[in-house]
Amino acid sequence: MHEALDGIPLIDHHCHGVMVAPLERAAFEDLITESDWAAPEGTSHFDTQVGFAIRRYCAPVLGLPAFASPDDYLERRRELGAEASERLLRAAGISEYLIETGHRGDEILDPAGMAAASAASTHEVVRLERLAEELLEEGCEPRAFRTAFARRLDERLERAVGVKSIAAYRIGLDFDAARPADAEVDAAVEAWAGRLGTGAARLEDEVIIRHLLWTAVDRERAIQFHVGYGDADVDLHRCSPLLLTGFLRATRDSGARILLLHCYPFQREAGYLAQVFPHVYFDVGLAINYTGARSVEVIAETLELAPFHKILFSSDAFGVAELYHLGALLFRRGLGHALDAFAARDGWPLAEQRRVAELVAWRNARRVYRLDAARTDEA
Ligand SMILES: [Zn+2]
Repeated sequence: MHEALDGIPLIDHHCHGVMVAPLERAAFEDLITESDWAAPEGTSHFDTQVGFAIRRYCAPVLGLPAFASPDDYLERRRELGAEASERLLRAAGISEYLIETGHRGDEILDPAGMAAASAASTHEVVRLERLAEELLEEGCEPRAFRTAFARRLDERLERAVGVKSIAAYRIGLDFDAARPADAEVDAAVEAWAGRLGTGAARLEDEVIIRHLLWTAVDRERAIQFHVGYGDADVDLHRCSPLLLTGFLRATRDSGARILLLHCYPFQREAGYLAQVFPHVYFDVGLAINYTGARSVEVIAETLELAPFHKILFSSDAFGVAELYHLGALLFRRGLGHALDAFAARDGWPLAEQRRVAELVAWRNARRVYRLDAARTDEA
């Protein structure tokens, strides 16, 4: 199955854009970790699973031997310029990218730029909290907020294939599942606007975020939630997907699809939710890259409880092309290993393994995001 997986298309249902500016060593190391501190003198963020995976698998794509030193690797990368990113992206074998543009959007390639760099198709996913912040930054009147937000969301969803929420970062996933009353929302926006200085608006209000979520639910679209592992800005103990149980119950028959992103180390909890709720899907993106040689085991755990039509692939790559490349490579390897193991143990026929692989690699994403009907940025 292992080899057969190379020929199967992949849809990366959650990632961001690549940075085009040349990167010094410190900036590159900053992009291959979720930590926000520089490695102490004499140590390196390359001494991690992802660092070893970059030297093992990305170095040969740039024409270096496997396990080239970090210095040699980065020098070669600089030499090649934009071609380094193009080589890594094109060799990743990802056929479609769903790109979330709400995080440091001005520093990364947009969906059209990503389509050109990767020679693949791209779609946009809109970050709900950023949309609300933009409205406030533009001076939207608090009492006009609900109408303005609905209109802006509808405009963006003419093109975008789904939305994402970072409630996990801003309020934790243990928020009240109920739809807030209009008057409550208006008062919360009023208070937020009153606190607003001159800089960027940062939305951290539970009532407003619940309003954004329910507005998205009403659109019956795909709604991504950051779940689990992320940078130090997140309170991981408030990021278990089980904390969303009430919200999942409340939205079960809404027509919205809920996609739990990353999930690590709660992938087993996510698998449970994907089994019991008809509208819940999940992936282990991000964790695949950062667990490197151990990602085989993490991917195998996703195939325990969850129906195979509820699991998706994502890289959650941001900034450097290495993370898309490795996300795809390690995912293919992990899925191949898991299916091989099931075949060795229980004799799963090759055609059935292939069918399961195709569901997870791309068919589930096409169905959940209704990509057949979506507008696409083509390479
Ligand atoms: Zn992400």
